[in-house]
Amino acid sequence: MKDNKKIWLASPHMGGDELRFVKETFDTNWIAPIGPHINTFEEQLSKISNGYKVAALSSGTASIHLALILAGVKANDDVICSTFTFSASANPIKYLGANPVFIDSESLSWNMCPELLEKSIVEGIEKNKKPKAIILVHLYGMPAKMDVIMEISNQYDIPLIEDAAEALGSTYKNQPLGTFGKFGVYSFNGNKIITTSAGGALLCKDKSLIKKAKFFATQSRDNAPHYEHSEIGYNYRMSNVCAAIGLGQLEVLSDRVRRKREIYNFYKTELSGIKEITFLYESIGSFSNYWLTTILLDKNSTIDREQLRLHLEKDNIESRPLWNPMHLQPVFKNCKAYVNGVSGDLFNRGLCLPSGTNISNKDLKRVVNKIKELYEA
Ligand SMILES: *Cc1c(COP(=O)(O)O)cnc(C)c1O
Repeated sequence: MKDNKKIWLASPHMGGDELRFVKETFDTNWIAPIGPHINTFEEQLSKISNGYKVAALSSGTASIHLALILAGVKANDDVICSTFTFSASANPIKYLGANPVFIDSESLSWNMCPELLEKSIVEGIEKNKKPKAIILVHLYGMPAKMDVIMEISNQYDIPLIEDAAEALGSTYKNQPLGTFGKFGVYSFNGNKIITTSAGGALLCKDKSLIKKAKFFATQSRDNAPHYEHSEIGYNYRMSNVCAAIGLGQLEVLSDRVRRKREIYNFYKTELSGIKEITFLYESIGSFSNYWLTTILLDKNSTIDREQLRLHLEKDNIESRPLWNPMHLQPVFKNCKAYVNGVSGDLFNRGLCLPSGTNISNKDLKRVVNKIKELYEA
């Protein structure tokens, strides 16, 4: 029988201790969005996040939403956002009735282009519409050009929100991503490097802002014995059961990063003979968790991205085009955008390869052989 069982792009990968922690939540009956595992999860995350304080929340999206609120974003404000990302980076801008201003990528890290960022700020200020915040994404775990981006954020005094949903475990000059900006955001969705089934975290150096985030996340209950509210609240807290899964997952985070990097190196070595395929790589100071291994097909290649994707799909191998930039999405078509063509080109030519840390070496070899088959035909 032909062995072509499904190879997923990335699927949840439990470490082993998760069930033990979940059982504790049952034994103690903390089956609620409050409980000791949430507190421990936050403390442990804080320890590996440069001492930034942490609020464990229901999703990465919720974390971005609260970061924007805490940054003081209001209706009709302009908020700068990487265009090359998943829609969850930008949607919370719209939740607040604010206007996204999308910034294209530079071709080295594929993340926000600092020149276009500065241009958009200068033009905003000229029009008396200084942007209120910057949402910077570290896509696929690769650090953005942090030195120059932080310089711009500081120079113009605009708070930076780091969407590090895909970048837990990555560093820039040995500093964890998510701990450069005023706010950092992680996601623990099922496909991320570690998962709590669903979940996210908001990070901030300022303890009082994290306290405020937890207040907003639990329906903004004022300090009164009855239910008193002077602000609009949200139901955004992480469940104690999810946090229990997270405790097990944190134990294996460094193993997961090691394996992701092994997978990247395997593809890179094995496919080095195919000149039409190139890889995203780390520049000096960058350390990527290589959440997903991504390849780019040559502009003049006779095989295009869809041909390769469908070729793999025929053998039950899941691969996926790179993110379709926000300025090309129907829902954001009327938004302001500073475009240089880089992200649109990456979308056309790029593919994410199966990168789940639970993939076997045999399955990795199967993916590689299938790709080679197409190019050697
Ligand atoms: C996954 C992801 C999010 C959203 O996180 P959720 O936990 O799924 O809400 C935001 N931004 C990026 C770049 C992501 O990949």
